[in-house]
Amino acid sequence: MSKLDKVAASDMVALDRIAEKPSREEAEDAVRTLIRWSGDNPSREGLLGTPSRFVRAWEEFFAGYEEDPVDVLQRTFQETGGYDEMVVLRDIQFFSHCEHHIVPIVGKVHVGYLPENRVVGISKLARVVDIFARRMQIQEKLTAEIATTINQVMKPKGVGVLIEAQHQCMTTRGVQKSEVSMVTSHMLGSFRDDSKMRSEFLSLLGNPNSRLTT
Ligand SMILES: [Zn+2]
Repeated sequence: MSKLDKVAASDMVALDRIAEKPSREEAEDAVRTLIRWSGDNPSREGLLGTPSRFVRAWEEFFAGYEEDPVDVLQRTFQETGGYDEMVVLRDIQFFSHCEHHIVPIVGKVHVGYLPENRVVGISKLARVVDIFARRMQIQEKLTAEIATTINQVMKPKGVGVLIEAQHQCMTTRGVQKSEVSMVTSHMLGSFRDDSKMRSEFLSLLGNPNSRLTT
């Protein structure tokens, strides 16, 4: 089983669980339990509205489960009109949550691809990043999901995704290293097989030496 198959299989497990989605009331009760677990009183005035606000915030944080990134790309591609150079979109800001601690991951995604016959509006690539980011994630999986989806739907000659991010589970708890950022990359097609192509992508990002890790 390839790495990509594993990603797809774990997504299917997640979708299975949505069939048993608890009610809003149950979710709010769970928040009250966590407040009590923290040592505070969910009935005091300042915390009374917190469970419903918390649950509404989670609806935004995890809206990506309701959306299909394949759909976003499929509906919007255009013919290239002869353009056959690399397209790079850099510094797409994202906000996600690590699936181990459910605390924020904040960073930037850089996407490059070499079109075959299709290009897509830049806002659509940013939407794809956003949809995957609004799920519980690890950075490695997020990187692979974005690259694989672009590769499968747009069928470019090559695609590269590079993510730099700070994980608040490292900066605010545990080892508490505030300056640490993590860099991951996923290269497919010509970006993987052709080192010149990969270098061009990384040089377009500005500072390839500090960004290339894998
Ligand atoms: Zn974490």
